[in-house]
Amino acid sequence: MSTSPFDLSGKVALVTGANTGIGQGLALALAGAGADIVAVGRSEPVATETAVKALGRRFLSLSADLSSVDPIRAVVDQAWQVMGKVDILINNAGTIRRSDALDFSETDWDQVIDTNLKSAFFLSQAVARRMIGEGRGGKIINIASMLSFQGGIRVASYTASKSGLAGITRLLANEWAPKGINVNAIAPGYISTNNTQQLRDDETRSREILGRIPAGRWGQPDDLAGAVVFLASAASDYVHGAILPVDGGWLAR
Ligand code: NAP
Repeated sequence: MSTSPFDLSGKVALVTGANTGIGQGLALALAGAGADIVAVGRSEPVATETAVKALGRRFLSLSADLSSVDPIRAVVDQAWQVMGKVDILINNAGTIRRSDALDFSETDWDQVIDTNLKSAFFLSQAVARRMIGEGRGGKIINIASMLSFQGGIRVASYTASKSGLAGITRLLANEWAPKGINVNAIAPGYISTNNTQQLRDDETRSREILGRIPAGRWGQPDDLAGAVVFLASAASDYVHGAILPVDGGWLAR
Protein backbone atom coordinates (compact mmCIF):
# COMPACT_ATOMS: atom_id res chain seq x y z
CA MET A 1 0.00 0.00 0.00
CA SER A 2 1.19 3.49 -0.86
CA THR A 3 2.04 5.89 1.95
CA SER A 4 1.82 8.93 -0.32
CA PRO A 5 -0.79 11.48 0.83
CA PHE A 6 -1.46 12.15 -2.87
CA ASP A 7 -2.41 8.55 -3.71
CA LEU A 8 -5.93 8.20 -5.17
CA SER A 9 -6.00 4.40 -5.55
CA GLY A 10 -9.52 3.05 -5.02
CA LYS A 11 -11.13 6.48 -5.40
CA VAL A 12 -13.77 7.37 -8.00
CA ALA A 13 -13.67 10.84 -9.58
CA LEU A 14 -16.59 12.32 -11.53
CA VAL A 15 -15.34 14.97 -13.97
CA THR A 16 -17.69 17.11 -16.07
CA GLY A 17 -16.53 18.18 -19.55
CA ALA A 18 -13.72 15.62 -19.61
CA ASN A 19 -13.66 15.11 -23.40
CA THR A 20 -11.26 17.98 -24.12
CA GLY A 21 -9.13 20.82 -22.73
CA ILE A 22 -8.78 21.31 -19.00
CA GLY A 23 -11.33 18.61 -18.07
CA GLN A 24 -9.41 16.02 -20.06
CA GLY A 25 -6.16 17.11 -18.38
CA LEU A 26 -7.77 16.87 -14.94
CA ALA A 27 -9.23 13.40 -15.63
CA LEU A 28 -5.84 12.10 -16.79
CA ALA A 29 -4.07 13.60 -13.77
CA LEU A 30 -6.55 11.95 -11.38
CA ALA A 31 -6.31 8.62 -13.21
CA GLY A 32 -2.52 8.90 -13.10
CA ALA A 33 -2.75 9.23 -9.31
CA GLY A 34 -4.90 6.07 -9.15
CA ALA A 35 -8.55 7.17 -9.48
CA ASP A 36 -11.24 5.58 -11.65
CA ILE A 37 -13.06 8.15 -13.80
CA VAL A 38 -16.71 8.97 -14.53
CA ALA A 39 -16.79 11.44 -17.44
CA VAL A 40 -20.00 13.48 -17.74
CA GLY A 41 -20.69 15.65 -20.76
CA ARG A 42 -22.38 16.13 -24.10
CA SER A 43 -19.53 15.00 -26.45
CA GLU A 44 -18.17 11.43 -26.45
CA PRO A 45 -14.87 11.48 -24.51
CA VAL A 46 -13.15 9.03 -26.86
CA ALA A 47 -9.53 10.17 -26.41
CA THR A 48 -9.95 10.53 -22.64
CA GLU A 49 -11.36 7.02 -22.37
CA THR A 50 -8.44 5.52 -24.29
CA ALA A 51 -5.88 7.37 -22.17
CA VAL A 52 -7.55 6.54 -18.82
CA LYS A 53 -7.86 2.85 -19.72
CA ALA A 54 -4.21 2.83 -20.83
CA LEU A 55 -3.36 3.86 -17.26
CA GLY A 56 -5.23 0.76 -16.04
CA ARG A 57 -8.16 2.65 -14.52
CA ARG A 58 -11.91 2.03 -14.90
CA PHE A 59 -13.79 4.54 -17.09
CA LEU A 60 -17.51 5.30 -17.33
CA SER A 61 -18.95 7.82 -19.79
CA LEU A 62 -22.34 9.41 -19.02
CA SER A 63 -23.98 11.65 -21.59
CA ALA A 64 -25.54 14.86 -20.23
CA ASP A 65 -26.17 18.41 -21.41
CA LEU A 66 -25.43 20.47 -18.31
CA SER A 67 -27.03 23.66 -19.65
CA SER A 68 -30.00 22.29 -17.68
CA VAL A 69 -30.21 20.58 -14.29
CA ASP A 70 -32.57 17.91 -15.71
CA PRO A 71 -29.93 15.16 -16.27
CA ILE A 72 -28.30 15.52 -12.84
CA ARG A 73 -30.39 12.99 -10.93
CA ALA A 74 -29.87 10.28 -13.59
CA VAL A 75 -26.14 11.02 -13.82
CA VAL A 76 -25.65 10.59 -10.09
CA ASP A 77 -27.83 7.45 -9.97
CA GLN A 78 -25.87 5.84 -12.83
CA ALA A 79 -22.49 6.78 -11.39
CA TRP A 80 -23.40 5.11 -8.08
CA GLN A 81 -24.99 2.13 -9.82
CA VAL A 82 -21.93 1.33 -11.95
CA MET A 83 -19.02 2.55 -9.79
CA GLY A 84 -20.58 2.10 -6.35
CA LYS A 85 -19.67 5.59 -5.14
CA VAL A 86 -18.13 8.94 -6.05
CA ASP A 87 -15.32 10.28 -3.84
CA ILE A 88 -14.27 13.29 -5.92
CA LEU A 89 -16.42 15.69 -7.96
CA ILE A 90 -14.81 18.09 -10.44
CA ASN A 91 -17.17 20.78 -11.71
CA ASN A 92 -15.27 21.66 -14.88
CA ALA A 93 -17.83 21.89 -17.73
CA GLY A 94 -18.16 25.50 -18.72
CA THR A 95 -18.94 27.81 -21.56
CA ILE A 96 -18.34 31.45 -22.49
CA ARG A 97 -20.04 34.11 -24.66
CA ARG A 98 -18.30 37.29 -25.78
CA SER A 99 -20.17 40.53 -26.48
CA ASP A 100 -20.13 44.18 -25.33
CA ALA A 101 -22.18 44.66 -22.16
CA LEU A 102 -24.40 47.14 -24.05
CA ASP A 103 -25.40 44.41 -26.51
CA PHE A 104 -25.31 41.35 -24.21
CA SER A 105 -28.34 39.10 -24.83
CA GLU A 106 -30.47 37.30 -22.26
CA THR A 107 -29.73 33.99 -24.01
CA ASP A 108 -25.98 34.54 -23.65
CA TRP A 109 -26.57 35.38 -19.99
CA ASP A 110 -28.75 32.36 -19.20
CA GLN A 111 -26.73 29.73 -21.09
CA VAL A 112 -23.51 30.61 -19.31
CA ILE A 113 -25.00 31.02 -15.83
CA ASP A 114 -27.03 27.81 -16.16
CA THR A 115 -24.03 25.70 -17.22
CA ASN A 116 -21.19 27.25 -15.21
CA LEU A 117 -23.01 28.08 -11.98
CA LYS A 118 -26.47 26.50 -11.62
CA SER A 119 -25.52 22.99 -12.77
CA ALA A 120 -22.28 23.09 -10.75
CA PHE A 121 -24.29 23.91 -7.61
CA PHE A 122 -27.01 21.30 -8.12
CA LEU A 123 -24.56 18.57 -9.14
CA SER A 124 -22.57 19.34 -5.97
CA GLN A 125 -25.80 19.12 -3.95
CA ALA A 126 -26.78 15.77 -5.50
CA VAL A 127 -23.33 14.25 -4.96
CA ALA A 128 -22.95 15.68 -1.44
CA ARG A 129 -26.33 14.28 -0.37
CA ARG A 130 -25.05 10.79 -1.22
CA MET A 131 -21.60 11.31 0.28
CA ILE A 132 -23.10 12.60 3.52
CA GLY A 133 -25.89 10.00 3.50
CA GLU A 134 -23.25 7.25 3.31
CA GLY A 135 -21.12 8.91 5.98
CA ARG A 136 -18.06 8.88 3.78
CA GLY A 137 -17.28 12.56 2.99
CA GLY A 138 -15.35 13.50 -0.14
CA LYS A 139 -13.76 16.21 -2.22
CA ILE A 140 -15.46 18.78 -4.47
CA ILE A 141 -13.31 20.94 -6.75
CA ASN A 142 -14.80 23.75 -8.79
CA ILE A 143 -12.99 25.15 -11.79
CA ALA A 144 -13.07 28.90 -11.24
CA SER A 145 -11.16 31.50 -13.28
CA MET A 146 -9.12 34.70 -13.13
CA LEU A 147 -12.59 36.25 -13.53
CA SER A 148 -13.45 34.93 -10.07
CA PHE A 149 -11.13 37.78 -8.94
CA GLN A 150 -11.13 40.27 -11.84
CA GLY A 151 -13.78 41.93 -13.99
CA GLY A 152 -12.71 40.89 -17.47
CA ILE A 153 -14.15 42.55 -20.56
CA ARG A 154 -16.98 41.57 -22.96
CA VAL A 155 -17.80 38.41 -20.95
CA ALA A 156 -20.48 39.62 -18.51
CA SER A 157 -22.20 36.29 -17.84
CA TYR A 158 -18.88 34.43 -17.60
CA THR A 159 -17.54 36.87 -14.99
CA ALA A 160 -20.81 36.61 -13.07
CA SER A 161 -20.71 32.80 -13.21
CA LYS A 162 -17.08 32.44 -12.12
CA SER A 163 -17.36 35.10 -9.39
CA GLY A 164 -20.50 33.28 -8.23
CA LEU A 165 -18.70 29.93 -8.31
CA ALA A 166 -15.99 31.34 -6.02
CA GLY A 167 -18.69 32.47 -3.59
CA ILE A 168 -20.48 29.12 -3.73
CA THR A 169 -17.14 27.35 -3.11
CA ARG A 170 -16.79 29.26 0.17
CA LEU A 171 -20.45 28.80 1.16
CA LEU A 172 -20.37 25.04 0.56
CA ALA A 173 -17.05 24.76 2.40
CA ASN A 174 -18.67 26.43 5.43
CA GLU A 175 -21.67 24.08 5.37
CA TRP A 176 -19.95 20.83 4.46
CA ALA A 177 -16.52 20.98 6.14
CA PRO A 178 -18.11 19.68 9.36
CA LYS A 179 -19.58 16.80 7.32
CA GLY A 180 -16.22 15.65 5.96
CA ILE A 181 -16.42 17.19 2.48
CA ASN A 182 -13.65 19.52 1.32
CA VAL A 183 -14.95 22.10 -1.17
CA ASN A 184 -12.24 24.07 -2.94
CA ALA A 185 -11.58 25.60 -6.35
CA ILE A 186 -8.79 25.90 -8.86
CA ALA A 187 -8.57 29.20 -10.72
CA PRO A 188 -6.68 28.52 -13.95
CA GLY A 189 -4.94 31.42 -15.66
CA TYR A 190 -4.84 31.61 -19.45
CA ILE A 191 -4.79 28.01 -20.64
CA SER A 192 -4.52 26.93 -24.26
CA THR A 193 -7.93 25.25 -25.00
CA ASN A 194 -11.04 25.78 -27.19
CA ASN A 195 -12.28 28.28 -24.56
CA THR A 196 -9.41 30.68 -25.33
CA GLN A 197 -9.05 30.01 -29.08
CA GLN A 198 -10.64 33.37 -29.97
CA LEU A 199 -8.22 35.24 -27.67
CA ARG A 200 -5.20 33.45 -29.11
CA ASP A 201 -6.42 34.15 -32.66
CA ASP A 202 -6.59 37.90 -31.88
CA GLU A 203 -2.93 38.98 -32.24
CA THR A 204 -3.26 42.13 -30.13
CA ARG A 205 -5.15 40.48 -27.24
CA SER A 206 -2.84 37.47 -27.36
CA ARG A 207 0.27 39.73 -27.13
CA GLU A 208 -1.26 41.77 -24.29
CA ILE A 209 -2.11 38.63 -22.31
CA LEU A 210 1.26 36.97 -22.81
CA GLY A 211 3.00 40.23 -21.83
CA ARG A 212 1.59 40.10 -18.30
CA ILE A 213 2.12 36.41 -17.56
CA PRO A 214 5.29 36.24 -15.42
CA ALA A 215 5.91 32.63 -16.51
CA GLY A 216 6.14 33.95 -20.08
CA ARG A 217 3.84 31.39 -21.70
CA TRP A 218 0.20 30.30 -21.91
CA GLY A 219 -0.68 27.41 -19.61
CA GLN A 220 -1.41 23.87 -20.80
CA PRO A 221 -4.06 21.57 -19.26
CA ASP A 222 -1.15 19.53 -17.78
CA ASP A 223 -0.15 22.52 -15.67
CA LEU A 224 -3.23 21.92 -13.46
CA ALA A 225 -2.35 18.28 -12.69
CA GLY A 226 -0.54 18.86 -9.39
CA ALA A 227 -3.21 21.22 -8.06
CA VAL A 228 -6.10 18.85 -8.79
CA VAL A 229 -4.37 15.81 -7.31
CA PHE A 230 -3.54 17.83 -4.18
CA LEU A 231 -7.13 19.05 -3.72
CA ALA A 232 -8.56 15.58 -4.48
CA SER A 233 -6.29 13.76 -2.04
CA ALA A 234 -5.74 13.36 1.70
CA ALA A 235 -2.92 15.91 1.37
CA SER A 236 -5.58 18.67 1.45
CA ASP A 237 -7.80 17.29 4.24
CA TYR A 238 -7.55 20.53 6.26
CA VAL A 239 -8.00 22.84 3.21
CA HIS A 240 -11.54 24.22 2.90
CA GLY A 241 -12.93 27.04 0.75
CA ALA A 242 -9.62 27.85 -0.93
CA ILE A 243 -9.42 29.15 -4.48
CA LEU A 244 -6.01 28.12 -5.75
CA PRO A 245 -4.71 30.16 -8.70
CA VAL A 246 -2.64 28.20 -11.23
CA ASP A 247 -1.87 31.11 -13.48
CA GLY A 248 1.84 31.46 -14.24
CA GLY A 249 1.85 34.39 -11.80
CA TRP A 250 -0.89 36.45 -13.55
CA LEU A 251 -2.59 37.57 -10.30
CA ALA A 252 0.70 38.48 -8.66
CA ARG A 253 1.37 41.06 -11.37
P1 NAP B 1 -13.21 23.77 -23.52
O1 NAP B 1 -12.08 23.09 -24.20
O2 NAP B 1 -14.17 24.60 -24.30
O3 NAP B 1 -13.99 22.71 -22.64
C1 NAP B 1 -15.23 22.99 -22.03
C2 NAP B 1 -15.83 21.68 -21.59
O4 NAP B 1 -17.13 21.94 -21.02
C3 NAP B 1 -16.05 20.74 -22.77
O5 NAP B 1 -15.89 19.42 -22.36
C4 NAP B 1 -17.49 21.04 -23.12
O6 NAP B 1 -18.11 20.01 -23.84
C5 NAP B 1 -18.07 21.16 -21.72
N1 NAP B 1 -19.39 21.79 -21.79
C6 NAP B 1 -19.69 23.03 -22.19
N2 NAP B 1 -21.03 23.21 -22.18
C7 NAP B 1 -21.57 22.05 -21.75
C8 NAP B 1 -22.89 21.59 -21.53
N3 NAP B 1 -23.95 22.37 -21.76
N4 NAP B 1 -23.08 20.33 -21.08
C9 NAP B 1 -22.03 19.51 -20.86
N5 NAP B 1 -20.76 19.88 -21.06
C10 NAP B 1 -20.53 21.13 -21.49
O7 NAP B 1 -12.63 24.81 -22.48
P2 NAP B 1 -11.67 24.62 -21.21
O8 NAP B 1 -10.77 25.79 -21.23
O9 NAP B 1 -11.11 23.27 -21.13
O10 NAP B 1 -12.73 24.87 -20.05
C11 NAP B 1 -12.92 24.00 -18.95
C12 NAP B 1 -13.27 24.82 -17.73
O11 NAP B 1 -12.15 25.64 -17.38
C13 NAP B 1 -14.44 25.79 -17.95
O12 NAP B 1 -15.23 25.85 -16.77
C14 NAP B 1 -13.73 27.12 -18.16
O13 NAP B 1 -14.55 28.19 -17.82
C15 NAP B 1 -12.58 26.97 -17.21
N6 NAP B 1 -11.45 27.87 -17.43
C16 NAP B 1 -10.75 27.86 -18.60
C17 NAP B 1 -9.66 28.72 -18.74
C18 NAP B 1 -8.82 28.76 -19.97
O14 NAP B 1 -7.95 29.63 -20.06
N7 NAP B 1 -8.98 27.87 -20.92
C19 NAP B 1 -9.33 29.60 -17.71
C20 NAP B 1 -10.08 29.58 -16.54
C21 NAP B 1 -11.14 28.71 -16.40
P3 NAP B 1 -18.13 20.09 -25.47
O15 NAP B 1 -16.77 19.69 -25.93
O16 NAP B 1 -19.21 19.16 -25.83
O17 NAP B 1 -18.45 21.52 -25.82
